[in-house]
Amino acid sequence: MNLLIVEDETRMADLLRKGLNEEGHRATCAPDGVQGLELAKHYDFDVIILDLMLPKLSGYELAKRLRAEKVNTPILMLTARDSVPDIVRGLDLGADDYMTKPFSFDELVARLRAVKRRAVAAEDTCLRVGDLLLDLASREVIRGEQRISLTRTEYSLLERLVYRAGKVVSRRALIEAVWGFDREIEENTLDAFMHLLRVKIDPPGRRKLIHTVRGVGYMIRGEIGS
Ligand code: CA
Repeated sequence: MNLLIVEDETRMADLLRKGLNEEGHRATCAPDGVQGLELAKHYDFDVIILDLMLPKLSGYELAKRLRAEKVNTPILMLTARDSVPDIVRGLDLGADDYMTKPFSFDELVARLRAVKRRAVAAEDTCLRVGDLLLDLASREVIRGEQRISLTRTEYSLLERLVYRAGKVVSRRALIEAVWGFDREIEENTLDAFMHLLRVKIDPPGRRKLIHTVRGVGYMIRGEIGS
C-alpha cells in the first residue's frame, strides 16, 4: 500500500514508517496538518493515517477540507483522544476508521488493509460524473451532499447516460435501454421523463450535467471536455 502518515511526533512517525516499510508498504510522512493536506490533495494514497492533534491544521480540519474538496482517500484516525464524542466527531468528518494510542501495530496493519478493501469495493459499484455519484449496488444517487430520490424509470435513464458519460446517447438507445424493444414508446414520452430527471439532477444554481444534443439525444458530462 502507498500510505500517508500525518503525525507531528517524530518518534511515532518514524516508528510507523519503519514498521510499515518492513511490511512492504510505502509511507510518506507529513509533520503538520498543512503539509498533510497538500500531499493528500496532490498524490494518490491508498490510506491516510491521521493524527488529530497537529500543528497548523488539526486532523479534524484536515479531514473536513479533504472531503469538501471531494478527495475520498480513506482515512484512519490515530489518536490519543479516546472519548466517544471525539470518535463520533472524527467519523462524522469522513474518517473511515479510528484507533486510539497506544495501539498494536499488527492491528493497525490489519485495519489499514480492511479500510483499503472497503474503499476499493465501494469504488467498484460507484460511478461518478462531476459531483454526481451513482451507487449501482444500492441505486442511490447523490449530487454534492444531496441525496436525490428517483423513480425507477428516471434511475434507468440516468444509469444509461452515466455509463456513457461524455458521449451522446441517442433517443432510440435510451428508449430501448429503459423500456425494451417491444414497447412502443414515443420520443416525446422519453423527453417528458428526461425533463423530470433533469429537474432533479440539475437544480437551479448547479452546473448543468445533462445536455440535450439537438436532433440526436442526450449526454451527461462532468468536467468541460471530459
Ligand atoms: Ca500529535
